[in-house]
Amino acid sequence: MDNFTFHNPVRLIFGQGQIAQIAKEIPAGARVLFAFGGGSIKTNGVHAQVVAALQAAGLFWLEFSGIEPNPRYETLMKAVHLARTEKLDFVLAVGGGSVADGCKFIAAAIPFDGEPWDILAKRARVNTATPLGIVLTLPATGSEMNCFAVVSRDETHEKLSFGSPAVWPKFSVLDPESTYTLPPRQIGNGIVDAFVHVVEQYLTYPAQAPLTDRMAEAILSTLVEIAPAAMSNPPDYQARANLMWCAAMALNGLVGAGVPQDWATHYIGHELTAIAGIDHARTLAAVWPGVMAVKFEAKKAKLAQYAERVWNVHEGSVDDKARAAIAHTRAFFEQVGVPSGLAAYDLPADIADQVAARLDARNQAPLGEHGDIDSAMVKRVLAAA
Ligand code: NAP
Ligand code: FE
Repeated sequence: MDNFTFHNPVRLIFGQGQIAQIAKEIPAGARVLFAFGGGSIKTNGVHAQVVAALQAAGLFWLEFSGIEPNPRYETLMKAVHLARTEKLDFVLAVGGGSVADGCKFIAAAIPFDGEPWDILAKRARVNTATPLGIVLTLPATGSEMNCFAVVSRDETHEKLSFGSPAVWPKFSVLDPESTYTLPPRQIGNGIVDAFVHVVEQYLTYPAQAPLTDRMAEAILSTLVEIAPAAMSNPPDYQARANLMWCAAMALNGLVGAGVPQDWATHYIGHELTAIAGIDHARTLAAVWPGVMAVKFEAKKAKLAQYAERVWNVHEGSVDDKARAAIAHTRAFFEQVGVPSGLAAYDLPADIADQVAARLDARNQAPLGEHGDIDSAMVKRVLAAA
């Protein structure tokens, strides 16, 4: 097992009717920036529940709407300007991962001394941030329980991430009923994103961390078990509740404890979103088979363990089991409506060159748990995907 520090200070408030709790969680007297996306929270009653809670607490708030999927720097800076002008001192994010991530950036940028884009482009240190809380309506990213965020910039077609202990949410409220209005596409995306978050931290080389492995396998097995009900029956409370819990646990540090981590699928996927606008989770299902094909030898022992414990494959050699695990995973992505492999997308012929050049330009490659996926290998991954 590798050395690790495990620390997660997020107060997670979970269950039916829990949005009202924000009245107790936001400090008395706070001036709140209530930020959300394109309006889904107005049609499903979440906006009304938040307003009722803010009123009950006697808080002052201003609303900022229009944070897009793959939140845009240009939009977020308008919220930063509003918060600075109106001296708002608490950020409340209400929506999916894009609103949560966007609000982490807003919270970091409000007191930032300098050009906030440097937080993303130059990894400028974020020492302090305006406190932030989240009401999550889309189980997928794990942003509700981590201190990372991903932000896009139109002008340069970039999609970049940052992380800082300053942007840990003070609290996150997860009410499974708020997910009932999600279209099947977003539920499928959410299942795949949470699944791949676990896989990035699990399908590496064996690290003698059996407890961490079994926690990862528990999340993967649970996602496989609940996916049919979560996809087909929106008001199935138990399916949605367990999906929300899985997504939060998938990227809150727990299944990364003591193990190597890959993340090549995510970094390559971010470039596909930046270049071609493909949904985040869809880029993951598109790229992942390529990573498994190119890194098969390095990963096959763990793939075989995964085949046995998650997919109940017990026949054949290590290679046979590893191949079966990849096939089962791809079929699972397709089952939840997310195409597996790159063939489903109409991409420019030089897409692999573009992705490799962009990663190189930012010194982001080499990737992977061995740090050996350089730009030449990124091209092989995309050719095999
Ligand atoms: P999202 O982009 O936040 O939301 C997708 C769509 O779902 C939006 O159009 C949104 O509409 C709608 N929606 C949200 N909740 C809804 C509900 N309850 N009912 C109906 N519609 C609803 O999707 P996401 O997958 O959660 O977030 C993706 C972003 O997170 C990407 O930028 C990705 O790179 C990033 N990400 C972050 C992390 C991390 O650790 N921080 C990890 C993985 C991915 P409205 O705008 O109208 O609300
Ligand atoms: Fe993700």
